[in-house]
Amino acid sequence: MTIQTKTEILEILNMPNEEFNNSIKKRAKEIHIQNNDNSVDVIALFGYDNICKNQCLYCGMRAGNSKLKRYRIGLEDAKKTEDAVKKLGLNKIFLISGEDPKYDFKDILSMVEYGKELGLFVSMAAGELSFEKYQALEAAGLDEYVLKFETSDKDMFAKIKPSTTFANRIKCIKYIKNSKMKLASGNIIGLPQQTLEQVADDIMLMKELEISWAPIIPYMPVPNTPLAQEGGRGSIETTLKEISILRIMMPQVNITAQQPSEDPKSSLADVQGNLNALSAGANMLFVEMLPPALIKDFNVINNRMIEGVEKVNKLVEMSEMKWNKIK
Ligand code: SF4
Repeated sequence: MTIQTKTEILEILNMPNEEFNNSIKKRAKEIHIQNNDNSVDVIALFGYDNICKNQCLYCGMRAGNSKLKRYRIGLEDAKKTEDAVKKLGLNKIFLISGEDPKYDFKDILSMVEYGKELGLFVSMAAGELSFEKYQALEAAGLDEYVLKFETSDKDMFAKIKPSTTFANRIKCIKYIKNSKMKLASGNIIGLPQQTLEQVADDIMLMKELEISWAPIIPYMPVPNTPLAQEGGRGSIETTLKEISILRIMMPQVNITAQQPSEDPKSSLADVQGNLNALSAGANMLFVEMLPPALIKDFNVINNRMIEGVEKVNKLVEMSEMKWNKIK
């Protein structure tokens, strides 16, 4: 089975769920087994800074959210966290922050270099930067940069991300794509007023960019953000369909399995939600590295909540998949 066109993608997105479960979802899982030995990748997630100058309408860390307690974790503590990742036996770290111009960029480079010294695969998301900074990250050995386009619809992008432009986003994405770093990118599924046609365009863009990782999740409205007035959580059904479509279109891509379930209160750590995503072809789980007191303050989305390594271990066992420890 191949999926190549927007029409084919739309057909699946519009397909009754039972038909999807009996055909596309099963095929996606088979493709994962054939191409990736049914493996799960685990990445340590470290939100080292929750300060952001931007005003994305959906994000709990937007500059306008005065209710949020802000923090910056300094270089020495960041290095200790990287040591802890190594000690846990993990081989990948995802360093993530808001767009905080006051975090010393030299320290960010040191964080990347230290991760590389430890032999970790280092992935980073720090938003839109200058090309010089992307170049410096590449020179420091950064393996992957995560810059989501969030939506490929220019008007919707302009509405939900008023602090930047779609043109600049794509310029940054293309710069990263042409560097030695891998590019991770993707969309938010089920934004208010988003159509399935737009989701299909998003999937086509991910394919065109030949991304290394699809860090996709449904829209999960954060209280006290402007977009939360406009609608509820994105559809889990569409999320699972998108996961399977991506697996079939890009057999080797990493896809976030940290997904909520149909329960509207469920978090990214929801066991059933995670297992559903793994059975639809996703393969990437997270381990939380923030100290417990700070976890709730890294609230890019509502219910971000992820777990420690023991719970992830249990989940991998339950899924009967293999934890891919060497990469
Ligand atoms: S989505 Fe990212 S850039 Fe936008 S406000 Fe949140 S942290 Fe900042």
